[in-house]
Amino acid sequence: MSQTSQIIERLAAIVGAHEVLTGEAIGEDYTHDEALNLEPQMPVAVVKPGASEEVSLIMKTANELGVAVTARGAGTGLSGACVPKQGGIVVSFERMNKILEIDEENFVAVVEPGVCLDQLDVALAERGLVYPVYPGEYSASLGGNVNTNAGGMRAVKYGVTRHNVLGIEAVLADGSPIKSGGKLIKNSTGYDLTQLIIGSEGTLAIVTKAYLKLHPRPEHSATVLAPFATLDDVTQAIPKIVDSGIGPSMLEYIDLMTMHVMIEQLELKLGVSADIRAKALAYLVVQLENPIKARIEEDVVSLGEHLAELGAMEVYLLEPRAGREIIEAREKAFWLAKGNGANDIIDVVVPRASIAEFMQKVSAIAQETGSMIPGCGHAGDGNVHMGVFQPDPEKKSEVLRRIFQAGMDLGGAISGEHGLGVMKKPYFAELEDPVKIELMRNIKKAFDPKGILNPGTMFD
Ligand SMILES: Cc1cc2nc3c(=O)[nH]c(=O)nc-3n(C[C@H](O)[C@H](O)[C@H](O)COP(=O)(O)OP(=O)(O)OC[C@H]3O[C@@H](n4cnc5c(N)ncnc54)[C@H](O)[C@@H]3O)c2cc1C
Repeated sequence: MSQTSQIIERLAAIVGAHEVLTGEAIGEDYTHDEALNLEPQMPVAVVKPGASEEVSLIMKTANELGVAVTARGAGTGLSGACVPKQGGIVVSFERMNKILEIDEENFVAVVEPGVCLDQLDVALAERGLVYPVYPGEYSASLGGNVNTNAGGMRAVKYGVTRHNVLGIEAVLADGSPIKSGGKLIKNSTGYDLTQLIIGSEGTLAIVTKAYLKLHPRPEHSATVLAPFATLDDVTQAIPKIVDSGIGPSMLEYIDLMTMHVMIEQLELKLGVSADIRAKALAYLVVQLENPIKARIEEDVVSLGEHLAELGAMEVYLLEPRAGREIIEAREKAFWLAKGNGANDIIDVVVPRASIAEFMQKVSAIAQETGSMIPGCGHAGDGNVHMGVFQPDPEKKSEVLRRIFQAGMDLGGAISGEHGLGVMKKPYFAELEDPVKIELMRNIKKAFDPKGILNPGTMFD
């Protein structure tokens, strides 16, 4: 019997034949994520476990037969990290989608990996709670969020996934289940395996449960839009707003080109006069939230004064509808860039006080290479998302390499939240400290000696 037939037969014995897809039954969606310009890949099978015991048996079997395993959440990743491997299987978590517990005393939710962000948010809203890590795509799964260390717009206040996951349960490559952390807030007991697995892009273990830190849901919010006449003014204002003591829950930067496309293509009505629009080169969107309405009103006044001192041409307190629309538009910026023909989307992070210098370097790279590189991003975290419009593949690689290098020269990193996947792997190999890469390889070997967990992701 061929290895493919063997694995399919044994997977069917574990989960039932109807939970194993093969051949034409494998939908096109399973062959890719949302990364631009990557070749889709058909797996030999898609298996849908219903419980962590089944995940253990799947891993044990794959390890024994030496078959590559790629875990898949919702497939909204932007770096090709869940694209299947040739001859490998996909473990899809759509059946493991239960919110197991919302513990209101400990402020912890316990979820299976297939739970989606919007599903969790609806359940928490009913109880006046929030899991604040909210990357722009709400159909994303918690398993995917944990494994990409997802960020999103509220990271400026609440941190990213790794600051909000207290523990995980996971299955190792040989099928052994482990638990690390849990409902406890602190833990100094040996190496922190939770943090090691967070952001590991399915290369170290399969996550079967996550313990998430919850917060009270703020009842009142306000969204302020501030246009600036120069890129320098806007980027220099960012660290000052973060350090002002106002504590924004979102601090997003949108450049002229991106704002223009948002207003025109999404028909946003923000009340910005034609005169200001003609002069503004970039915008800041600041969201404030507070349980007490009067406090938020005071904060809005104080923010307005700060923004004016920092050079904002105007300060608009948006109507709630317009506030929601600009944030939704910002979340959809990826689809706009894709729809307008972007050749790549990247998410370099730099120390937030270095954004101004970083953006100047990116402008120079764009000019020198004849590329268009519009951007917007989680400015409060120093995380700039850029669409790279450069159709020539060789030139595009050069543009990416130079932008990553510019970010790293300023003490930044190649990816702030989307991960390396397969898309940024060559640049990581070229630009990162080889001593660190070797250490990472050794960690991978300790977790996964046969190299079956998402091989070829992050590094070869
Ligand atoms: C419009 C849009 C906006 C976005 N905005 C943001 C943003 O603001 N911030 C941000 O951080 N990201 C953003 N993203 C990217 C994406 O939503 C996140 O990377 C998200 O965390 C991926 O979740 P997923 O369930 O789709 O994971 P997938 O794409 O399915 O998988 C991602 C990685 O996790 C691994 N994985 C999944 N489940 C498991 C598991 N149970 N065990 C082990 N490994 C697993 C996969 O193998 C893969 O390596 C955006 C994407 C889109 C399309």
